[in-house]
Amino acid sequence: MVNKTAKANLLAIATSFTFLLFYPTPKSSYHSLFISDSLSDNASISHHLYTLTRRPHVAGLEANAEAAAYVLSVFASSNIKSHIAPYRVALHYPVSRSLTLTPSPQESPISFRLEQEIYEGDPYADVANEVLPTFHAYAKSGNVTAPVVYVNYGRSEDYARLEQMGVNVSGSIVLAKYGKIYRGGIVQIAYEAGAIGVLVYSDRKDYGGGGGEAKWFPDDKWLPPSGVQVGSVYNGLGDPTTPGWASTEECERLSDDEVEKSGDVPLIPSLPISAVDGETILRSIGGPVADEDWQGSEDAPTYNVGPGPGIVHLSYTGKQIIGRIENVIGVIEGAEEPDRLVILGNHRDAWTFGAVDPNSGTAALLEVAQRLGKLQKKGWKPRRTIVLCNWDAEEYGLIGSTEWVEENREILASRAIAYLNVDSGVQGPGFFASATPQLDELLKQATQQVKDPDNSSQTLYQSWVGSRTSPKIDRLGSAGSDFAAFVHHLGIPATHMAFGEGYPVYHSMYDDFIWVKKFGDPMFHRHVAVASVWGLVTLWLADAELLPFNYLSYAMELQTYAIDLEDDISDTNINLTPLLKSIEELKRAATEINNERKEIEQNKGWLLTWKKDHVKVRELNDRLMMAERAFTDQDGLFGRSWYKHLIYGPSKYDDYASESFPGIYDAIAKAKISNTAESWKFVQHEVYRVSRAVKHASQIINGELT
Ligand SMILES: [Zn+2]
Repeated sequence: MVNKTAKANLLAIATSFTFLLFYPTPKSSYHSLFISDSLSDNASISHHLYTLTRRPHVAGLEANAEAAAYVLSVFASSNIKSHIAPYRVALHYPVSRSLTLTPSPQESPISFRLEQEIYEGDPYADVANEVLPTFHAYAKSGNVTAPVVYVNYGRSEDYARLEQMGVNVSGSIVLAKYGKIYRGGIVQIAYEAGAIGVLVYSDRKDYGGGGGEAKWFPDDKWLPPSGVQVGSVYNGLGDPTTPGWASTEECERLSDDEVEKSGDVPLIPSLPISAVDGETILRSIGGPVADEDWQGSEDAPTYNVGPGPGIVHLSYTGKQIIGRIENVIGVIEGAEEPDRLVILGNHRDAWTFGAVDPNSGTAALLEVAQRLGKLQKKGWKPRRTIVLCNWDAEEYGLIGSTEWVEENREILASRAIAYLNVDSGVQGPGFFASATPQLDELLKQATQQVKDPDNSSQTLYQSWVGSRTSPKIDRLGSAGSDFAAFVHHLGIPATHMAFGEGYPVYHSMYDDFIWVKKFGDPMFHRHVAVASVWGLVTLWLADAELLPFNYLSYAMELQTYAIDLEDDISDTNINLTPLLKSIEELKRAATEINNERKEIEQNKGWLLTWKKDHVKVRELNDRLMMAERAFTDQDGLFGRSWYKHLIYGPSKYDDYASESFPGIYDAIAKAKISNTAESWKFVQHEVYRVSRAVKHASQIINGELT
């Protein structure tokens, strides 16, 4: 006989057994644990950064293979299956450079040393000889002599201003300053204006903390006068010799001539130079005085535009080799949907020590890996597969990530849920994020869970949103980091985040561990926070039964682009109705799928309907995953067919600029110049193309055949 108490006990046991059987530790408690202090480790992050940045590690060089081995070892010790995905790609290194200035016919030439100075007590002095001589990757080798013209930031608008002033750039060597557009764009625009050589310097007004009493590294965060920003001047992305396909061993390659014809490699020599050398050259330039907003610091000499009388002789020789690069790939297999992928990525290669760019991000990636390893030990298994990628040769032109995406195109296009990028994870204070809009909400929610590393009394969200009603989220139109192939080529939803927005020692030999420790993040709390947000978004995407994508945000965002576009073409006969209608349709489809999701959430949990739900859930998730793909078009952007995404893509000359509807805006820019009926018809064609893509997205979200 069973008495009442025993019965109650049995019931309790049965209930708890059922609980154990059907409700293992809820995923959300693992997620809270992931961002808890008990799993975060700022000392370990600092150690990772120190180890990764002990030597300069440019792509293709031995020190970078050493760094890859370190990443691999940390993945392995975190119980993450990992391997190296190598490629053989065209890399470029400097062989010789010389730069002399003849200020005037009466004066004797000045030869520049072109060296970044080691400071007293520099702990990296022992490996300073491993820092490559300052150069522009993929610069054209050559020997040029010409009077100098000062072109401000080297943008198209700067050349337009010079033309107004009656200054002819043709046949000259231009002196441009860094800071507004991608350096590959600076060289390309100079070439198109007829220049025969390009020098790019870092003005101390922008990078040196101004004039007068300014201090610089190691006493302050600013770039020392001898500091030089190295970098690539390649305007394409991926290995220049394998456009559109992977650079595997023995693969097909373009010849040097064919690469030159592609238009993405520079056809004139260029060299980056220091603030102090730039100023010396500026002193030799006469002619009309440059505009007020082209001038330097208060105590700098007056900048004139030239040409001359200073004459520069620039000689550059580089060598191109086919070298081995190594992406490190770690995989945590999903327990329920192993064929669905949530991908994290960060690059490892650096121009010098790379403490900020990119290894602050690499250190955060290793922290995420270690925390995921600890969660696995406690019994957590992700629903979907998590892939951790550590890219190589990003600095040369997003090569490692692009080759991998090209090699795995079909698998990624059919299985990738999202790609989450971090490049220079910590550059200074303040949180900055970019995303494709269906992920906006997720970023906001994740930052609401994470402490502000600079003020523990508030959440990161609070400092991010500031006094606005909603935080500023940028878009991924630029090809500025490794998200480009995922978003622009395949249409995979993506995010990109960092603390700080730019820092003065960028791509110089002063971007080292000491700079980060003194100025970037002394306590490594920002590193902890970026790892927390990055990892939490990963966990939500990997574990949520229903994907937390909101396409209503996307539709609203498209609507604002359409309104901007309307302003831009108000005096033309371009008809935007098809576009506006397609956006309305997307709004309806997004609202419906959001309701559907709610319905499934409310009804779930009943054992009998579980099997049916399972198929339903998978089908709904697939619609959410594939909707972004619809924004790609197989023909791609006009004249740039690798770029398939019609909503987000880079503008033609400025790889850092983020644009919406790049195809439409390129067509408008051309039509405004030629102003022919045909060119305006082409604008209308581009509007139709985007409308069709948006319509396809609604169809995918609706999940119905017509
Ligand atoms: Zn980087």
